[in-house]
Amino acid sequence: MKIICINCPKGCELEAEMKDGKPVVTGHTCPKGEEYGRAELVNPTRMVTGLVRVAGMRKPLPVKTKAAVPKKKIDEVLFAMHQATVQLPVRIGDVITSNVAGTGVDLVATANM
Ligand code: SF4
Repeated sequence: MKIICINCPKGCELEAEMKDGKPVVTGHTCPKGEEYGRAELVNPTRMVTGLVRVAGMRKPLPVKTKAAVPKKKIDEVLFAMHQATVQLPVRIGDVITSNVAGTGVDLVATANM
């Protein structure tokens, strides 16, 4: 499969495929690209950002996953964000939902409110 590496502005075009049961990446110009291509082939992950309801306020709280989560779990993470309601005060980095959607990753606040 063809992939554009998103680790830096150079945007190298990668080709990633399984050969003899192992992920093989070509087209990268540094080790980060090779690592990214392998991950995209075997277990693609993404950071997820969104908004969470704040009790008693119209303005929502911006949040993000503390680390990248598997792409196949993104819908569940977004659903967890939709279901959550936080109480103020909240500081940047506060855990809003631990182990969000069973990913092992926490959902954290990205603003002070
Ligand atoms: S392979 Fe390396 S140089 Fe190329 S886009 Fe990815 S990080 Fe940048």
